[in-house]
Amino acid sequence: MLSTMQDVPLTVTRILTHGMTIHGRSQVTTWTGEPEPHRRSFAEIGGRAAQLANALRDELGVDGDQRVATLCWNNAEHVEAYLAIPSMGAVLHTLNLRLPAEQLAWIVNHADDKVVIANGSLLPLLVPLLPHLPSIEHVVVSGPGDRSGLSGIAPRVHEYEELLAGRPTTYDWPELDERQAAAMCYTSGTTGDPKGVVYSHRSIYLHSMQVNMTESMGLTDRDTTLMVVPQFHVNAWGLPHAAFMTGVNMLMPDRFLQPAPLADMIEREKPTHAAAVPTIWHGLLAEVTANPRDLSSLANVTIGGAACPPSLMEAYDKLGVRLCHAWGMTETSPLGTMANPPAGLSEEEQWPYRITQGRFPAGVEARLAGTAGEHLPWDGTSAGELEVRGPWIAGAYYGGPGGDLRPEDKFTEDGWLKTGDVGVISADGFLTLTDRAKDVIKSGGEWISSVDLENALMAHPDVAEAAVVAVPDEKWGERPLATVVLKEGATADYAALREFLAQSVARWQLPERWSVIPAVPKTSVGKFDKKVIRRQYADGELDVTQL
Ligand code: ADP
Repeated sequence: MLSTMQDVPLTVTRILTHGMTIHGRSQVTTWTGEPEPHRRSFAEIGGRAAQLANALRDELGVDGDQRVATLCWNNAEHVEAYLAIPSMGAVLHTLNLRLPAEQLAWIVNHADDKVVIANGSLLPLLVPLLPHLPSIEHVVVSGPGDRSGLSGIAPRVHEYEELLAGRPTTYDWPELDERQAAAMCYTSGTTGDPKGVVYSHRSIYLHSMQVNMTESMGLTDRDTTLMVVPQFHVNAWGLPHAAFMTGVNMLMPDRFLQPAPLADMIEREKPTHAAAVPTIWHGLLAEVTANPRDLSSLANVTIGGAACPPSLMEAYDKLGVRLCHAWGMTETSPLGTMANPPAGLSEEEQWPYRITQGRFPAGVEARLAGTAGEHLPWDGTSAGELEVRGPWIAGAYYGGPGGDLRPEDKFTEDGWLKTGDVGVISADGFLTLTDRAKDVIKSGGEWISSVDLENALMAHPDVAEAAVVAVPDEKWGERPLATVVLKEGATADYAALREFLAQSVARWQLPERWSVIPAVPKTSVGKFDKKVIRRQYADGELDVTQL
């Protein structure tokens, strides 16, 4: 028997029309570097999204599911694109502005983007690429930046504000199939070519609801979220769509992502929530230690994208800022877990839960696979590769027109996503990741967790950052190499650091090889880039001391 319920498609259009009316007074505030930030209400954003859609259709000829790319910082115009493009039936393709030029060109060509909306300040990156982007017919430029490089280029050039001016602030939004593509995002391609994940209207809608649930980020129209995580990094963790759904005010840093302006933004605009990778929180901590600011409005911070060292959490606890650890991937929209402890526990009892990656929401099913593909128990000790499935988890990659890709190393035969992350799950469903499969250190048949060693090292008062990688070893196969970034005025030597580590990890896991480095190399989204360290070691570029 079928249900008697209405079957209303779950679409971004519904998020847009709901947010611009019911939450019309909520605001998107964009940092400008001027004395006053720029403010725009959700009602205005909704009207401008309609103007943008009218312009894209009538002036630029965007039709059907054509791809419209954005090369933008986090700002109000980028939110307009987030809402307008999917709602008109086209596909939003956010471009990662930190990718190497060739990779960026590869991605635009693979997605067959027709239009690119770019911030003026990013034209020096875009203009040299344009001759290699044959599918791009239009470039739309918004915000400050030198336009001179655009004269004489092949695609037509438009000014964002001129394009919108005078157009209707309403649009006859089409009724879309909820399974249709709404947006796409490429993984950063640490191994092989980048892979395109294509989100549906339905997956975005359901993911947005989950983001807002109390057991996740728990955001309402009484909140302001400081969205540091870039809109090109897994849709800013789903926040723009989620925020429009419940009227969460958005504070957008635009290109002012350095610790000092971020601290100023927090002190002045008093956001209640923020989202960013650990690297940002390390930088901000150093900034406010040197030049104190009041960060205490941040009642609730989502930190993820890479493991959050417990020492960082403790440091922010002391500032009255509570970090909540989350795990996810481009393929998981990204919300996969969040570390809100179970109810009824004291602060002390909550701690062991807070330092895990968190527990799975109802929309994410999880299992652990052993090396022979067998399924392991949730007992807090059996370690295996995490596999997930659910309505906002990718089931394939974009393979170009007419096909998709399901590489064997990424999807199981029965349709689960193989995450490449290794960890354990406790009986009450909390995930603790010990490593990425490719970063695990296999020493004499035993696994050493690089993350455990890093977390322990970063708890030392002299250590700013630490990255541990596997290096070849004649006797053991692999052994850990510890690379550390020391704080200014640090006095600890390698022997002292090793002794410090011995307090929290087994002696056989202690690294023999040590190197002080000026900074940990980072990926385009600010995560530790361990393959660079492994290459530097192999090429003899590191000054390594053996204890
Ligand atoms: P990339 O694979 O290029 O880094 P993603 O942003 O999709 O792109 O990264 C997803 C990966 O980031 C996960 O598979 C996991 O290894 C890592 N990750 C994300 N969140 C966490 C976390 N809280 N703790 C540890 N690792 C994390």
